Amino acid sequence: MSDAHYLVGLDLRGRRVVVVGAGSVAQRRLPRLLRAGADVDVIAPEATPAVEGMAAAGEIRWHRRRYADGDLRHAWYAIACTDDTRVNEAVSAEAERERVFCVRADAGPDGSAVTPATGEFDGLLIGVLAGGRPLRSAAVRDGLLEALREGTVPAGRQPGARRPGMGEVILVGGGPGDPELITVAGRRLLANADVVVADRLAPRELLDELPPRVEVVDAAKIPYGRAAAQDFINATLVEHAKAGKTVVRLKGGDPYVFGRGYEEVLACASAGVPVSVVPGVTSAFAVPALADVPVTHRGVAHEVVVVSGHVGPDHPSSLVDWRALAALRGTIVLLMAVERAGQFADVLMAGGRAPDTPVAVVQEGSTARQRVLRTTLGSVADEIAAEGIRPPAVIVIGPVAGLYAEREGAVGERS
Ligand code: SAH
Repeated sequence: MSDAHYLVGLDLRGRRVVVVGAGSVAQRRLPRLLRAGADVDVIAPEATPAVEGMAAAGEIRWHRRRYADGDLRHAWYAIACTDDTRVNEAVSAEAERERVFCVRADAGPDGSAVTPATGEFDGLLIGVLAGGRPLRSAAVRDGLLEALREGTVPAGRQPGARRPGMGEVILVGGGPGDPELITVAGRRLLANADVVVADRLAPRELLDELPPRVEVVDAAKIPYGRAAAQDFINATLVEHAKAGKTVVRLKGGDPYVFGRGYEEVLACASAGVPVSVVPGVTSAFAVPALADVPVTHRGVAHEVVVVSGHVGPDHPSSLVDWRALAALRGTIVLLMAVERAGQFADVLMAGGRAPDTPVAVVQEGSTARQRVLRTTLGSVADEIAAEGIRPPAVIVIGPVAGLYAEREGAVGERS
């Protein structure tokens, strides 16, 4: 019987669904029921904190008592998921009498309905049943989602209400370098792109995965000066979008953290090209994390400031108030600052930061080439030179950069 199910999509909007039990199964099922717009009653004397939270937020009605015959009246659908087989049996029996489809969490084949392994991808809802073999259905669901993400199974994406012949530009944050640190949306859009314009710091490995039909423009290879290169990139984005292409502009980290992303947005907008952004994992926070530096820590740092070091502290075009930064006690994260690390350290110390303030310098974080230098504000410039640290690197200044020692100490004590 269990392999003879009929797979269907229920419209549960505003319809009463009764969930008997409020443990981990209920907790897992509830979000999708709520997303489908169901009107949910949960019946259970006790609930997990997550289910309690849904009740407190008014998303479900929680009846804090044991199940009683009659609870399924006027329900469209029921889930019996207590840890007591007899209760589940009773719920299932009432469901049968009331002609309510009912899932039995403890004994799938004994219910009148089963929950498929489900997944969502870009407006697709995928459900897989495997005749009561949940590991198999979950594995197939995972494989399908993975294939859709990679583009090896076509998602049949319909372009939205776009002007005919007009493409679009999507700025995608690629994360700090490890190809696994792009977002799910970013990876999906990449697989669906016609043209990818990749930044110097965008994760290279992601480009290798692209199907051959995707045209890749490598912005690192544009043979102009910095300013002209940006004009060329803007023009490239606009030109391909106007030719009807879906253009992904793949950038390192987050597109709007010192990534010139908004310049590209403005260029597209002024050319009448639809443009959107998918945020990314910024190196400013991710790279310190990978070197055991939390940018905030309770009782240690209540602030973190991300600062560009692309011009020196006295440069006329600098917008940074280094005196004000020096007065902070929290964490300072410097990007693009390797070459001028000594100047920044000096101005911070002149403003009052102690020379023994811990500093971590992390080169090429999240990649196989990651290097970490642990030093102090007073020594950072000399050590960068001595160790031959090169860009791209993040410099983290503040007591949080010294916390790794506590962790290592803790390990030492335990072993
Ligand atoms: N938009 C990017 C930052 C661009 S500015 C982001 O959000 O991450 C470029 C600077 O970012 C580099 O000079 C360096 O300071 C830092 N950076 C980017 N990727 C890095 C990495 N993998 N390791 C260390 N620093 C990195």
